[in-house]
Amino acid sequence: MTASKIIIAIDGHSSCGKSTVAKQVAKKLGYIFIDTGAMYRSVTLYALRNGLAADGKVDEQGLIQRLSEIEIEFRFNLEKQLNETYLNGENVEEEIRQLPVSNHVSPVATIKEVREAMVKLQQDMGRNKGIVMDGRDIGTVVFPEAELKIFMTARPEVRAQRRYDELTEKGLDVDFNEILKNVQERDKIDSSRAVSPLRQADDALLLDNSDITREEQLDWVLGKVKELVA
Ligand code: C5P
Repeated sequence: MTASKIIIAIDGHSSCGKSTVAKQVAKKLGYIFIDTGAMYRSVTLYALRNGLAADGKVDEQGLIQRLSEIEIEFRFNLEKQLNETYLNGENVEEEIRQLPVSNHVSPVATIKEVREAMVKLQQDMGRNKGIVMDGRDIGTVVFPEAELKIFMTARPEVRAQRRYDELTEKGLDVDFNEILKNVQERDKIDSSRAVSPLRQADDALLLDNSDITREEQLDWVLGKVKELVA
């Protein structure tokens, strides 16, 4: 048994539903949900808008020089009952989910200075515990002392299909094979980068959700929390 509020770190591969389960768990427990991918996506959007990223390439030095101009925050939308991402005061929640950002975010996330700035922000946000944070390095770098660490994955084709369904539901015209390629490419870059590569922390619990429902997955996570919290 441990203190009543804990830190829940959810890491894993792209598009395996980390945010979905993190949001559900946060809601059930009255915790704050923090989507760290949204932060790297916002930096990427800034780079794209300012001519610092294009055609899959990123001007690293240019971006590092302008990092201090980038302000990222989450504001709670009462109507939707969820956090939305703001870049320099503008709501970018929709735009950061689209393919131009997805196609440039992994190279942006390999930049050491970008990661240092994001990790610092994330640690500040989690100071009071009672958070569910999802990302790639939460259990290994941001909160190595998190009480509950989960490493999520699913087969690449399953993940691409889910992403495809999500985007087409929003009315976007997307190509399945392009999405699958993006998922695989991001796995490769995220796992092989020098700074904070994606890996399962030694003390993280593995959750492969390829063949289970969202409900089963939520019950599994809540069961783990129950074992920990008094
Ligand atoms: O989680 P999501 O797919 O939105 O994250 C977008 C990208 O941001 C990932 O592919 C990864 O390159 C990067 N990322 C990261 N570290 C995190 C969260 C996301 O490198 N903690």
